[in-house]
This record gives sequence, C-alpha cells and structure tokens, in this order.
Amino acid sequence: MNLTKRPIMDPEAPNRSTGMINGRCSNVLNWDDIAYPWAYAKYKRMLANFWTPFEINMAQDVKQFPQLTAREQDAFLKIIGLLALLDSIQTDYAGRVADYITDPSINALMIMLAQQEVIHNHSYSYVLSSLVPKAKQDEVFDFWRNEPTLRKRNDFVTNGYKAFAEKPNVENLLRSIVFDVILEGLFFYSGFAFFYNLARQQKMVATSTMINYINRDEHIHVDLFAKIFKEVLNEYPEYRTPELADFARSTFMKAAELEIEWAGEIIGNDIDGIDLADLEAYIKFYANVRAHQLGFDRPFDGYRTNPLRWIKAYEEVDLGKSDFFEQKPRQYTKVQVDNGFDEL
Ligand code: ZN
Ligand code: ZN
Repeated sequence: MNLTKRPIMDPEAPNRSTGMINGRCSNVLNWDDIAYPWAYAKYKRMLANFWTPFEINMAQDVKQFPQLTAREQDAFLKIIGLLALLDSIQTDYAGRVADYITDPSINALMIMLAQQEVIHNHSYSYVLSSLVPKAKQDEVFDFWRNEPTLRKRNDFVTNGYKAFAEKPNVENLLRSIVFDVILEGLFFYSGFAFFYNLARQQKMVATSTMINYINRDEHIHVDLFAKIFKEVLNEYPEYRTPELADFARSTFMKAAELEIEWAGEIIGNDIDGIDLADLEAYIKFYANVRAHQLGFDRPFDGYRTNPLRWIKAYEEVDLGKSDFFEQKPRQYTKVQVDNGFDEL
C-alpha cells in the first residue's frame, strides 16, 4: 500500500488523527487532544534534553589532541567523519518520514528529531574546527566518500533509506525503520565506545561530553522510531509477516558484521583500554537489543548482557541535565565560549 502525504490542512478531519500513516487529521496540533498518549511525555523529554555545542568549552581537548597517539587521532577523526555522514542523512530521512506521518503530534516529534540531528552535525564541525586546521576538517567531512570500509558500511544503510525515499509504501517504511534503528542504535555505538574509553582515561572529555549528549538524544530517537514501527504494525497487521521477520534478522546480522569489520579496522586492538573481542560482543549485544526493541527475535544466540561493563556509567542516559561528567570533578566548564568556529 502506498503512503499518502499529510495535507497542509483538512477542514473536514478531526484534530485528533485517525492513524499514524494514511490516516486523517486537520493538521492542527493540540497536545491535550492527541491520538498517541505517549507522544506528550516524549515531547517534554526532547525539550528537556535540548543542548547546543556552544555550551561546551573545548580548551582542554585542544591541548590534549596533539598528545593522543597517532592511532587514537586517526580513529578519532574517522569516527567523527562517519558520524557526520550518518547525522546528515538522518536529518533528511526524518524530514521525509515526517511528510507521511498523518498525526500532527508524531510529526512534531519527527521535526524535533530532525532538528537534533542538525545540532549533532554542528557538533562535529565545532569539534573539528577546534582541533584541526580547516583543510583537515574538509578531509574528514569527505571520509564517507574516500574511505572504502566507511563507504561500504554507510551504503548499506543509505540504500535502505533510498528504497523508502523512492517508493514510499508501508513495506518500505517499515524496512527503512529497521535501517534507522541500525543507524541510530547500532552504527553509532562502537564510535561512542571509543570516545567514552578516552574519557575514562581523562582524555578529550569535552568531545566525550558532546558524544554523551548525542548518545542521550539517539536513545530517545530509537525509542520514537520503535514506537512508530509498532503502531504502524498495529494499524496494518497484515504487514507483520515472516518475510519481515526474516528481513529484520538478516539485516541486523549484516549490520553487526559491517560494524565489527569497521571497528576492527578503525579501533582494532591498538587502542589502550578497548579489547576487540569485547567490542565485537558489544556490537552483537546491541544488535540483539535493537531487534528485540522492534519486536523481533534476537539474531545472535547469547549476547544478552553488555560486555563493556565500564561503559554503563557513560550510557546512563536517564539522568536528564545532570550528566555523568558533571558528577566528577569538573573537567570542563559550561560557558559560552568562542572556539573560532564562527569566524570560519
Ligand atoms: Zn544524531
Ligand atoms: Zn538520531
């Protein structure tokens, strides 16, 4: 079944929508009259989490970056390059999904999600403009094009989005959400682990603070897409097929394989504090978590607990504004600071 775009206005339709997709709504948003009761809590949470890179003082990281090993610097830049591509296309994907959401409250959440992706992207420019010369920054923003493993991994997910963008129907939307959950809930995670590992050695704490905020946002985004996925399947149960389950299983397994390959190449066993076998288990653990979150069987036998025990403190994303780093002796100050970015 094809998807119909939400009209700008429908005077005959109710304010409370009749469906997540292909439903009817006036397109007027009244938070006190919404079809999906969970949406308001999510709205408040997304507002409360609002942050911008300008809050973060990069001074300490600027001093530390040249002291990282060559391997750490390389991994640092490659991961930023990866995240920059993923967050860029994520902004666009969220906007496209929003066009076909026929509920004004969920559309509102999707627009907020897209805005947060813009901020994530800004944070990568902010970090790089603080740490490396402009030419290097440009190079990092082209890694997605020029680095073969990165390209292979990213093509996997962008091709999944393309099918929905080119042919927006129910099946392609559902499948694209599987890719979305891989992008926001799996493909970021070995990169996150790398930054948290630096932070626990008291290195690059400002960058890791930003990564922690991004992690907190992505946690909410995955949950939002998982909820949309489940509501669509509730409204269109005929799409809950063995083929969809097979697709999800093979897609999560392939994604984990690509992520492990990438982690082996970029992080490997040369980074102090990260054991590659643990990182592989961590990736399979998260593939299981995400498949389960969408209502599918876990693709990997075992892998039910997080093998990177130390990372839990950093992934604790239910702390609201008082994040992990603020509970330690202050490593950074949240002040308005000019890192030189505005002059570029
Ligand atoms: Zn993001
Ligand atoms: Zn996201």
